[in-house]
Amino acid sequence: TVRVRYAPSPTGHLHIGGVRTALFNYLFAKHHGGQFILRSEDTDLERNVPGAEQEILEGFRWLGFRWEEGPDVGGPHAPYRCTDRLPIYRDYLKKLADAGAAYPCYCTAEELDAQRAEALRLGQTPRYSGKCRDLTADERAALEAEGRTANWRFRVPEGVTLSLTDAVRGPVSFESDDIGDFVIMKSNGLPTYNFQVVIDDALMEITHVIRGEEHLSNTPRQLLIYRALGLAEPAFAHLPQVLDETRKKLSKRDPNVLPVHAYREAGYVPQAIVNFLALLGWSPGGEEEILSLEEIIARFDLERVNKSGAVFDVHKLRWMANQYLKQLPLPALTEMVRVQLQRQGIALPDGRDDGWLETVVGLYQEQMACAADFLPLARGFFERQAALSAEALAVLREPGAADVVRAYHTLAEASDVWTAEASRDRFNEIKKTLGVKGKALFMPVRAAVTGEVHGPDLQMTIACLPKAWVLERMEAALA
Ligand code: GLU
Repeated sequence: TVRVRYAPSPTGHLHIGGVRTALFNYLFAKHHGGQFILRSEDTDLERNVPGAEQEILEGFRWLGFRWEEGPDVGGPHAPYRCTDRLPIYRDYLKKLADAGAAYPCYCTAEELDAQRAEALRLGQTPRYSGKCRDLTADERAALEAEGRTANWRFRVPEGVTLSLTDAVRGPVSFESDDIGDFVIMKSNGLPTYNFQVVIDDALMEITHVIRGEEHLSNTPRQLLIYRALGLAEPAFAHLPQVLDETRKKLSKRDPNVLPVHAYREAGYVPQAIVNFLALLGWSPGGEEEILSLEEIIARFDLERVNKSGAVFDVHKLRWMANQYLKQLPLPALTEMVRVQLQRQGIALPDGRDDGWLETVVGLYQEQMACAADFLPLARGFFERQAALSAEALAVLREPGAADVVRAYHTLAEASDVWTAEASRDRFNEIKKTLGVKGKALFMPVRAAVTGEVHGPDLQMTIACLPKAWVLERMEAALA
């Protein structure tokens, strides 16, 4: 069976790029009836952020991912948090050391920096000099007596070509001579990523390692460890980078891209995010873009993953989010909007009930990408006054505009029925008495009442506003 994993380091928020990687793993596993595993790679203690693992798991749950094994649900290869697996790495380090494939290095950070600087000065690619490669037992003892502690390095064999056939990129090869002996276990007893990941993937019986392209250069180091320990190698697939609109690698700080929790808080439909991310570097082959998770799983394969970078298009995300949000039942969307209002401490205007909110949400549903879009659009239903935009002012200055507004005001003031129907009747009346129709009839009223020249259905808008607000706004516009 196919077994894949997503192995986040809990160093911060769950980001879109990480979700895309996890998603491709998930789709691949489900397409093949396999298993998807989460593993928390938390061995870089200084970079760990408290609560980050929790946030990452919650983000995936919200997006609709389900995992067979993971730090929260356990599983046959537990534990799934790397700092809980330290004895395992130590055992494997011992195997490598006993076989002469790993050795202790006593160089200090300062000495390594000096070696690096020297290599750069000579125009060479800096890599570990091999200074501690062949120390005798006496030399080691002497260095330890100086109070030095050891980082364990992997002894990279000379003259080996490391080849693999990447499922996305095709054949790739590396020369071992370009790789210096690298640290696999730090003096604090924690493994480095390249060592830990091999042990864990092998013991967890991962069949396919699908991850970001930035890890391709780590792969030869990992292959060396698999081979030195005689462990079965998984297949590899390195996904193209996610790029921003200028085709640079997407930054986590890009203001157009939010961490997952922020999409959740803004009230996006999670399936929209999943659908959007599935198309980031993969194409289903065909014109259709709105696909359910089941459809994507059915069609997914690594052959249709692009080799070149995938551009994160914010407009496309909003378009896709709107496609999904439009399909929500109005009560469900209203509930999401209510959460947004509560978070901002905004109460319904006096005398307005839940039914009213649902009607107003319905006026804007077509235009929204997320629930948080509601308030900026519907501001005028929550604030008594409406500021006039430049376009609205221009409309109101047109000849005859003030007469229409005045006529509407008179009819509205006298009316005790406050419905869309009653508003339509008022317009019909004005049409007869003033002889104006179309834009010249409706626009001045819209401009005066909403302060804008565009918006949802005018009769519904008026019916949803308190009568007193409508009259006041008209008076203000006429003043
Ligand atoms: N913890 C690594 C990361 O977050 C995982 C890399 C891998 O998938 O091998 O980048």
